[in-house]
Amino acid sequence: MRPLTLAAAGVVVALLLFLAERRWPLRRPRAALLARLAVNLLVAAIALGVAAATVRPLVLRALSLTADRPLGLFRWLVLPPPLEWLLAFLLLDLSFYWWHRANHRIPLLWRFHNVHHFDPDLDLSTALRFHFVEIALSAGFRVAQVTVLGLGAGVYWAYELCFQANTLFHHSNVRLPIGVERALNRVMVTPRMHGIHHSQVEAEAMSNYGVLLPWWDRIHRTLRLNVPQHAIEIGVPAYSQPEDNHPGNLLAAPFLTQRDYWRRPDGSAVERPQASGPATDLAE
Ligand SMILES: [Zn+2]
Repeated sequence: MRPLTLAAAGVVVALLLFLAERRWPLRRPRAALLARLAVNLLVAAIALGVAAATVRPLVLRALSLTADRPLGLFRWLVLPPPLEWLLAFLLLDLSFYWWHRANHRIPLLWRFHNVHHFDPDLDLSTALRFHFVEIALSAGFRVAQVTVLGLGAGVYWAYELCFQANTLFHHSNVRLPIGVERALNRVMVTPRMHGIHHSQVEAEAMSNYGVLLPWWDRIHRTLRLNVPQHAIEIGVPAYSQPEDNHPGNLLAAPFLTQRDYWRRPDGSAVERPQASGPATDLAE
């Protein structure tokens, strides 16, 4: 798939979600829209530049390597194309689940991924707000995916389109009718599910790692759907002061001594009494 087609599809999806967020907000925003857009789009522009300089050329190189050589799972297993695509989609999404979980569990990776999480609000612009070092590190992971799986360019870019579109969707602040979202959440990660992942409660942030498919959290027992959105404070407690979210401080944060992430500046932790209902039922 051509990069321009991908970019055009992304712009259309983003525009529709942006309008829907204004019309039907899911969570009440804390910061003024223009101020937060300025911060997140600046951070996103740097990340995008680094992605263009690292992720794209390295992935293209890996795709051309696997095209020429018997390298990777799908070069050894010769499967009918529909089955190969299905398996490739599942394995790509499962490995992104592991990568996201590693970004929370490995301290060096969390230093950088944390910058995405300490956004005090969660909306479409959060989907683009990643520290540029996290993007550069993800280039290595993507090269590993392509070479270990032996992926063709077609399936890789088709998955990438779904991955990016759903990343925009599940970060968005769009309120869907709960019945509609529960139905969608059977097959994809949705805004309420991912909203719980951006909670200031540590146990909630350490759940719902899925990107496209919600099943990996169920299988790995990291699913937590029973937290209502109105009860969620978005962010990371130790980085919740307005100055933490200034672009310079935010880009420098991973290189400085790390704070006790899950405690507020006054030392208290953000806790929640036991949520009601089973963790597998999506709350309003
Ligand atoms: Zn995360």
